[in-house]
Order: sequence, then C-alpha cells, then structure tokens
Amino acid sequence: LGVSLALAIFAAAFSDLLDDARHDRTIDALTGTLNRHGLEEAIATRLKNPAWPTSVVLCDVDHFKRINDGHGHDVGDAVLKEIGSILRHAARKNDLVGRFGGEEFLVLLSDADLQKATQCAERLRLAVASHEFPLLSDSGSVTASFGVAECRPGEAWESLFKRADICLYAAKHAGRNRTIAG
Ligand code: GH3
Ligand code: MG
Ligand code: MG
Repeated sequence: LGVSLALAIFAAAFSDLLDDARHDRTIDALTGTLNRHGLEEAIATRLKNPAWPTSVVLCDVDHFKRINDGHGHDVGDAVLKEIGSILRHAARKNDLVGRFGGEEFLVLLSDADLQKATQCAERLRLAVASHEFPLLSDSGSVTASFGVAECRPGEAWESLFKRADICLYAAKHAGRNRTIAG
C-alpha cells in the first residue's frame, strides 16, 4: 500500500511538473494569452479538424512605439498586458487568443464566416479604443488596427495568415483604428 501511495504521489507531482512546463512553453508570460509557439500548436490542431467556417483576426497596436518612447518600456508592457486582457475577455470562450509578436495579437475564430469575424474584430477594436489606460497620463487611450480573413477549404495556414496580414496593412495605410476584411 505504501509503495502504491508513493507511486501515486510521484505520478501526481510529475503530472503537475509537465503541466507547468507546458504552460511555460505555450503561454506568453506578459499577457497570459498564447505565445507564438502556443498559437502555432493550437492552430495546427484546429485547422486539422476545423469547425467551419473558421476565420482569423490580426490586431496590431497603433503607434505603439510612441507609447514606449513617451512613457517608457514598463508602461508599454503594462499596456500590452491590458490589451491582452481586453481581447481575452471580449473574445468567445472557444476562440484562440495569442500574442504572436511584440504588439501584435491574433484571434482564431471557430464557427465564424467573414461577416461574423468582421463584427467580432469591430467589437474588439471598440473595446480597445474605449478602454481607459490609467498609466497613460495624456489621452489615456490606445487604438489598434485589425485585418480579417476567412479560411478557404484546404487553405494552408500561411496563406490564410498572409491574406489577413494584407488586410491589416491596408487598415494601417487607411489611417489606423479600423478593421479591414478580405
Ligand atoms: P504602427 O501603428 O505602424 O503599428 O506603429 P508602431 O509604432 O506600433 O509599430 P512599430 O513596429 O514601429 O513599433 C512597435 C514597437 O513595439 C517597437 C518595439 O520596440 C515595441 N515592442 C515590441 N515588443 C514589445 C514588448 O514586449 N514590450 C514593449 N514595451 N514594447 C515592445
Ligand atoms: Mg507591429
Ligand atoms: Mg503597431
């Protein structure tokens, strides 16, 4: 009985260790959203067996460099953390939310065609734009631009991402704080 108990405790502790390691590997420590690795892993799984329609929303914070330059890197970090939290709370439970680059976030939506995903991106955009960031003394507000694309049957992730990225670039070019879908 003693040996079985010891083995059970060891197995539970080992399983906790594996969970911790997995968490560190897949979760972005700053924002609590998925990191690039976590996104890649989760997206690969989702796209193997997608809940059609599936769409991707890319989000890039507008003029983020100015926030770093004007308020310091720590305030910039705090803003990213808040944006991560806004996106997580505004997204649906089954959506994947992650930070794939410095001030760039991604949301993968299941069961959302282009129209639904665009509405979702607008909801996310307004949630960011209407949020008051207490650490930013001047206006207290931050905006972000969004690009949206719906996955075509059999489309590779790289192609879907590229199409959303082109829309994001167009949103920046058109003046920022907007959503462009294509
Ligand atoms: P745009 O509206 O065109 O996107 O302008 P931008 O200033 O947001 O874009 P740019 O790519 O010029 O600058 C992004 C900045 O984000 C530069 C980089 O130093 C900063 N950055 C990247 N990762 C982090 C991070 O983890 N924390 C902080 N505080 N800053 C970061
Ligand atoms: Mg960027
Ligand atoms: Mg930016």
